[in-house]
Amino acid sequence: MEPVLAVTDLTVQYGGIRAVDGVSFHVAEGELVALIGANGAGKSSTLRAIAGLAPVAGGDIVLDGVSIRGVPTHELPRRGLALVPEGRRVFADLSVLDNLYLGAYSRPRHEIVESLRQVYELFPILRERSDQAAGTLSGGEQQMLAIGRALMSRPRILLLDEPSLGLAPVIVRQVLALLRQLRERGVTILLVEQNARLALEVADRGYVMHTGRIVMSGPARELAANPEVRERYFGTARARSASPGRAREPSMGESV
Ligand code: ATP
Repeated sequence: MEPVLAVTDLTVQYGGIRAVDGVSFHVAEGELVALIGANGAGKSSTLRAIAGLAPVAGGDIVLDGVSIRGVPTHELPRRGLALVPEGRRVFADLSVLDNLYLGAYSRPRHEIVESLRQVYELFPILRERSDQAAGTLSGGEQQMLAIGRALMSRPRILLLDEPSLGLAPVIVRQVLALLRQLRERGVTILLVEQNARLALEVADRGYVMHTGRIVMSGPARELAANPEVRERYFGTARARSASPGRAREPSMGESV
């Protein structure tokens, strides 16, 4: 079956800096694929290039069989691609409901009511707070709003850039549970996450990036069990000193 998203030989160049260097990967329908790697490996640049926000110097990005390379960002929701940016970026002064409506600008009016119903069903807290200014929400709720807003466009694929960044550990667990829920509903997701341990807990497959290239890939469970991945990307030493034995927790793949 044709993948929803296929990236081939993607190169991203900022002036003299080649941030992404010939990267190829795909995301199949209903899959949650994680792109992991250290700070500066090129994960965000890859995601931003797909979303038309970083300069593509080579390669192709194909969504449902059609190249979207060079398609302007504002046109992408109509093509079926929605980005949840790093740092959430909700419109703080607008109400929760207005933020959600903004996510649906590419949809015909009659579909918006149904999209809103689905988003409220997924995130009941957003319905409760629909009249509140988005800036008054907690970090975790803002992340829900950012995801909800992206879902309002009924995307074929949801791109998530570092959803755990800046959130307290307990909220990160909630976001993780949410991703799992989305996946169970069949939403196709590409997740960029520096917290590799978390990302591989929810993902079906993963790709590891290092200095602009993909250096490893495979089923998430295999990557999570790989000693090199654990050593390099799980921050095991830090986790061990914070909580003895955490690295050996048999929790991977289980629900929170
Ligand atoms: P992080 O988790 O810190 O976001 P990352 O893996 O997502 O890391 P990128 O943010 O894609 O990595 O950065 C890859 C490289 O590209 C880095 O060397 C970074 O300094 C550089 N870079 C990123 N954005 C720009 C930009 N707008 N202009 C110039 N260089 C950039």
